[in-house]
Amino acid sequence: MYCTSCGKNIGEHPAFCQFCGARVAQATPPPPMYSAPPKRPFARYSGDKKIAGVCAGVARYFDLDSSLVRAVWLLCVLLGGTGLLAYIVLWIVMPLDPQYPMLPA
Ligand SMILES: [Zn+2]
Repeated sequence: MYCTSCGKNIGEHPAFCQFCGARVAQATPPPPMYSAPPKRPFARYSGDKKIAGVCAGVARYFDLDSSLVRAVWLLCVLLGGTGLLAYIVLWIVMPLDPQYPMLPA
């Protein structure tokens, strides 16, 4: 076969062209047309944040409704107080999603 980048004969199915180093297209079936669901990062989500985006980030990570997460979390805060601690810990631990930068106030 021939390199698609430099056009030289590179023999039988190498992964890379030995002349120009280009990755050689393999005779594998093309990727499926549907796009895989994006990997959900465990990060705060400023696009739907009320305080620090922790609830929205957790909701996104577990594919839950952010309002539900907030309601349950608020319940934990009001009932036991551990919810507040968990919120603060996650606030520190979870990075703010770089794909959704905070908008200037
Ligand atoms: Zn080449």
